[in-house]
Amino acid sequence: MIQYLLFDLDNTLYSSRYGLEQNVSRRITDFTAGFLGLSTEETVKLRARRIPFYGTTLEWLMAEEGLTDADHYFRIIHPEDEAEILPPDPALGEFLEGIKLPKAVLTNSPMEHAERVLARLGIRSCFGPVFDIRWNNFKGKPRPDVYRRVLECLNSSPETTLFIDDYPKYITGYLALGGKGLLFDENNEHPAHQGPRIRELREVSLHLD
Ligand SMILES: [Mg+2]
Repeated sequence: MIQYLLFDLDNTLYSSRYGLEQNVSRRITDFTAGFLGLSTEETVKLRARRIPFYGTTLEWLMAEEGLTDADHYFRIIHPEDEAEILPPDPALGEFLEGIKLPKAVLTNSPMEHAERVLARLGIRSCFGPVFDIRWNNFKGKPRPDVYRRVLECLNSSPETTLFIDDYPKYITGYLALGGKGLLFDENNEHPAHQGPRIRELREVSLHLD
């Protein structure tokens, strides 16, 4: 029986069709190209080779490329008006409030981004704790210790905590701990994923047993 819901933030609590995450990705590529002194094309290729070893681009740049000022990085890739592209989503708020279970957010983004997005959607009050990338010391999902620390903090267990995310590798990492994980795959991009997938967030309610 599920007793806790743990949600990813980006492209999970809002649709990828709004392009917010795409904008973030573009700014990450531009920043990384400038930081490394490479062309966009070279940056995309290098990132694709290195990112499988890390949870985020920031983690890669800190571990291998000497980036130290994470706050500067976040200011560049998360400008203050970044969430304005999203429409408020009162229907999502009603849906979440209708599920009588405690809910939390686990994101590989910084808190200022999470708070901005949740406020814009109008759903901040639906959640208790928000665990961001600083809380995880810049080493986020899919590291097993991230999930373990979050569960410990929530006083919950993998078997009773349903985790919903749009990245297969983050879900796979959670499943490996014995957790219940749902891949949010709104565009049917990951048919080979081993484990339950949903195409709409509302389908979460079918996976609460
Ligand atoms: Mg996501």
